[in-house]
Amino acid sequence: MDKIVAANWKMNKSISQSEKFVRKLKKVDVRNNVIIFPSFIALPAVSQILEKERCGAQDSFYESSGAHTGEVSPEMIKEVADYVIIGHSERRAKGETNEILNKKVKACSAAGLKIIFCVGEKEGEDSHAVVKKQIIEGLKGTDALTDFVIIAYEPVWAIGTGKTPETDEIMEAVKYIKSLYSCEVLYGGSVNGENAEEILKICDGVLVGSASLDFQSFLKIARS
Ligand code: PEP
Repeated sequence: MDKIVAANWKMNKSISQSEKFVRKLKKVDVRNNVIIFPSFIALPAVSQILEKERCGAQDSFYESSGAHTGEVSPEMIKEVADYVIIGHSERRAKGETNEILNKKVKACSAAGLKIIFCVGEKEGEDSHAVVKKQIIEGLKGTDALTDFVIIAYEPVWAIGTGKTPETDEIMEAVKYIKSLYSCEVLYGGSVNGENAEEILKICDGVLVGSASLDFQSFLKIARS
């Protein structure tokens, strides 16, 4: 079965670099279900090249419109993409609380976006306790929306560090998350062309940061 391979480009790639990457991607066969999350500024251009169902935004605001300088609404995103990442640890670190994230999840699902909701413990924290609180508070009142929600388990200590949990630890975390919330579960944190195949066997997909920026290394993951 196809797995999700999501590329979070963060604040990388200009519009023309993003276009070049996805034009190349369109020409090759990939086994998995690839979703690209470019910067907001490159998203419309990427969406014109790939289908909307292969595009996502890295964040969304929770209001539909109004005096919110710098924000982008779920409805605006839905014009160009079918997916959105909510609760990435880099945004949580900037002060996004579970309460704010819950508003975002509800607004995005109401607009018809599929949400990749990120959870995960920091170094030394109790993984179960952190993940449980993030899911209970962040996904509160969304039990009827499980078709719209995908959870990405991303231990913060594994993001961009080259360190990953042991395979059985990822397996255990995925199982635990599924026992709390019935949805697809991805793993994220230092996924690369070497470890992707093994990780993809034990979860529903991967969320990839650094290794998604280089075309050949991303292609290797997408074909794993
Ligand atoms: C991420 O930031 O979501 C991520 C998984 O990054 P990396 O692959 O670079 O660890």
